[in-house]
Amino acid sequence: MSTAFLSLGSNTGDRLSVIQQAVSFLSNDNSIEILAASSFYETEPWGRKNQAWFVNAVIAVKTELSPVELLRVCQDIESKLGRDRSNEVRWGERPIDIDILFYDDLVMSNEILTIPHMFVHKRAFTLVPMLEIKPDFIHPVLNKTILDLHSELENPEDVFLYGTVIGMEE
Ligand code: ATP
Ligand code: CA
Ligand code: CA
Repeated sequence: MSTAFLSLGSNTGDRLSVIQQAVSFLSNDNSIEILAASSFYETEPWGRKNQAWFVNAVIAVKTELSPVELLRVCQDIESKLGRDRSNEVRWGERPIDIDILFYDDLVMSNEILTIPHMFVHKRAFTLVPMLEIKPDFIHPVLNKTILDLHSELENPEDVFLYGTVIGMEE
């Protein structure tokens, strides 16, 4: 069994509800158990400013899936929730984005998957929710805790607490 941290984000439609549905799909997968969920945050777009603000959250999951299998499950859920990758620009608007931030202390990189996520340490919208659920987690490449990485952010984008209820009961 492995523990992974997943980032969820949405900036179109009913952002909160879509993230809750994504968490619910994940928890309904027999190979995935939700261990912890952050609050919701409303976040300034990162990388491409001129678009609606996002709602973001991070969850910790226990899973027997390999990293690639987990990615496939996440991408399946993205499609079910209306994501159409054929119609997208990089870091543009989307109803749902699910990224694998960490998978145990695994370090890997190939054409489909880079773990830890390439930008996890540069984004307040991933570090702030991580701070809430696992501040002492050590980034296996940078060898720094989430707490340290957060304190080292230069010009972080705005991240506001949006709400604290995540749909874990389904
Ligand atoms: P970013 O990865 O910078 O957050 P994005 O989430 O908008 O950008 P997507 O279009 O959702 O990027 O994904 C592009 C590809 O990134 C996916 O098809 C997937 O193969 C790859 N990828 C690499 N590493 C990861 C990871 N850790 N989690 C999710 N996808 C990843
Ligand atoms: Ca992403
Ligand atoms: Ca993604």
